Amino acid sequence: MENKMTKTPFITADKLDQITAEFPTPFHLYDEKGIRETARAVNAAFSWNPGFKEFFAVKATPNPAILKILKEEGCGVDCATDTELVMSNKIGFDSTAISFTSNDTRAEEFVYARDINATINLDAYEDIFFLEEAAGLPETLSLRFNPGGVFSLGTDIMDHPEESKFGMTKEQLFKGYAYLKEKGVKSFGLHAFLASNTVTNEYYPTLAAQLFELAVEIKNELGVSLDFINLSGGVGVDYTPANKQNDIAVIGEGVHTKFDEILVPNDLGDISIYTELGRFMTAPHGLVVTKVLHIKDTYRRYVGVDASAVNLLRPAMYDAYHHITNMTNPNGDIQVVDVTGSLCENNDKFAKNRELPEARIGDTLVIHDTGAHGFSMGYNYNGRLRSAEILYQEDGTARMIRRAETMNDYFATLDGFDFEI
Ligand SMILES: *Cc1c(COP(=O)(O)O)cnc(C)c1O
Repeated sequence: MENKMTKTPFITADKLDQITAEFPTPFHLYDEKGIRETARAVNAAFSWNPGFKEFFAVKATPNPAILKILKEEGCGVDCATDTELVMSNKIGFDSTAISFTSNDTRAEEFVYARDINATINLDAYEDIFFLEEAAGLPETLSLRFNPGGVFSLGTDIMDHPEESKFGMTKEQLFKGYAYLKEKGVKSFGLHAFLASNTVTNEYYPTLAAQLFELAVEIKNELGVSLDFINLSGGVGVDYTPANKQNDIAVIGEGVHTKFDEILVPNDLGDISIYTELGRFMTAPHGLVVTKVLHIKDTYRRYVGVDASAVNLLRPAMYDAYHHITNMTNPNGDIQVVDVTGSLCENNDKFAKNRELPEARIGDTLVIHDTGAHGFSMGYNYNGRLRSAEILYQEDGTARMIRRAETMNDYFATLDGFDFEI
């Protein structure tokens, strides 16, 4: 049986009723105020570092309206593909505010990244030569490190870098910087992403200490003084109603302490700290809004809603917990139910054996913490269509920032048929 504690949505039931009267469910709803507050908290937590910049991981919430909000708050963007680079460039991010952290990259993507002068972060040692051949070496280049082994905090194993396809070995890293220096590259960065969705204030400081020690070694061995160290993503959110969230101010101070201990005495106190947070920035500031279509009783009670895994894949893919609130009947009798979508896949369940106030046909449910890796992981199985995205603006009004797909969108890429309806 799952947890009975609650999470409070960022919107009231009355306000949400007004929005569902205007926009049909299901849709993703984002909270502008919350996104701005988180961006400000991140910037404040690292304000001790003059060169600090958060490069929001576009893949978490790839909508221009969201990216513009983050841009206004002084954030940059980290892109994984040329599509994300094009979007970021068109929105008007400065080249210094765009980074490109890809892997298994196509040559034309490197060419485009060079064209718009995005900061390239290379995943593989072999990529150095691939990039040189495809697009030439830029003046600034960052390399992604993978130390192998396991990443632990004290006795807790957080992740297994040795099983990760990302990054290069220490030996490759050193060979890489030496080669790039010889080739005239002037400005160097170091990047690592060693654990995903951590909920502990220790992850970033521990990672930072590891990278700072490495920066000292790189300086001593190669005479290369890094210009920036990118702590990447991995600072997560607590999806459960226990709500034991990371404290970004404590995290920033933890990194600051390591910076002063390790980099400053080694004459590396000018290094800029970069982050590429995705989940932490937007996950808590999004909801999937959905209505109950059917109640079905067999060996369990099934609450069938109008959203499905195409709108939010995390529960089906990772068995991830997302809290659910019944906005219409919050004080109903508690029942133990599965909340399901309509796909012909038994994993299309947003909750299993969950205690929820009685859900009735027509009730509005919200699925929490869907602001990152929610809409963006969507797909079209069963011919189900992607939903709209709605921004709940600071002034209390709602604005559609992406319309729902139509069947014509779905049919548009088929060649030789005209299914227009
Ligand atoms: C996914 C990703 C991020 C963001 O990770 P979160 O856990 O969402 O913060 C940052 N950098 C890179 C390279 C990524 O692939």
